[in-house]
Amino acid sequence: MLYYTEICLSPYEVPGEQSICIYISGCCNKCKNCHYPELQLPDYGDILSNRISDMIDLYHSQATCVCFLGEGRGRQKEKEELVRLAKSAQQNGLKTCLYCGRDTFIEEWMKGFDYSNYSVTRENRP
Ligand code: SF4
Repeated sequence: MLYYTEICLSPYEVPGEQSICIYISGCCNKCKNCHYPELQLPDYGDILSNRISDMIDLYHSQATCVCFLGEGRGRQKEKEELVRLAKSAQQNGLKTCLYCGRDTFIEEWMKGFDYSNYSVTRENRP
């Protein structure tokens, strides 16, 4: 199950998109100087599936994309939940983005997102 700490609207995370940004907790990356240590706490915050539909309804007229910041604890059931939530956002006419935070190539399960961290940070690198 995915938990989140914050949801906001931002034009910065995905170039050219106005994104509903969802900060997902449970991050296992342990980056040095982590900018948001609370995101490393497991099951921290509120249950995302209880809130995401309301948030999409609230921001729908202003947003073009849903950006998932984090993949939770990275377990299979969390990946499946992210894919399910992304599909639902796309059915509402929004693009989707995933920043998993790991240094990785696009994995099979990530292909359902319109943008992933790999395509944003590496393919656009000069
Ligand atoms: S990916 Fe983000 S939240 Fe996770 S440890 Fe790194 S800086 Fe912190």
